[in-house]
Amino acid sequence: MSVNFDFTKLTSIIYPPLCLTCKCKISSKEQGICLECDHKLPRTNFQNSKENKFSERFWGRIPVHTASAMYYFNGNESVKKMIHGLKYQGKTDIGERIGRIFGKRLRKNSNFDGVDMILPVPLHWTRQRERGYNQSDCFAKGLSESMGRNWHRDYLKRNKNTTSQTKKSISERIENVSNIFEVVDPKLLQGKHILLVDDVVTTGATLEACAEAILKIPGTTVSMATIAIAV
Ligand SMILES: [Zn+2]
Repeated sequence: MSVNFDFTKLTSIIYPPLCLTCKCKISSKEQGICLECDHKLPRTNFQNSKENKFSERFWGRIPVHTASAMYYFNGNESVKKMIHGLKYQGKTDIGERIGRIFGKRLRKNSNFDGVDMILPVPLHWTRQRERGYNQSDCFAKGLSESMGRNWHRDYLKRNKNTTSQTKKSISERIENVSNIFEVVDPKLLQGKHILLVDDVVTTGATLEACAEAILKIPGTTVSMATIAIAV
């Protein structure tokens, strides 16, 4: 005799899901953020237009098919809190949950129709060992679940552990990241539309360097998605 027991249900009774930002109890329908907080978060809705403040960062630099960020990063404490928790406090579920919410929106959008696979921007192995995980992997995993596209953490490799970008000028940042990424097996990406994902986009130098490595492979198209954009 077999007994079917729903552990997910039991877990949600013992640990009810909490809002990512205000920590109130939420229903599973609310997808990680309570309705009240969700209305307050600064969404970009960039996915609705191919020409937006994200994609225009790459004009004259590299061809980007479509680019969107879920939220504006600047001046919003809740968004900052979520990113900080994801990057520095081991709250990997934040990345996955935002990925699932964002993926649902991108799936409905024709600009993202042709995406074949999702690739997170890799960390250098020393940084990843320090942190224990790559925050972009979490976001990629969530996106993958709701977009119905595979994600791969080992298709791209970071060969150089770059120093922090925050105190550098734009030209120093571009110099800092050029030629640091490598595609492990170019055959796997040939002719594919890649959705490249990262946590936050600032100047776009890291995403640009990563996209450059991909775009050397014949027939590739690159789109981009991040949790937040600093403007
Ligand atoms: Zn809330």
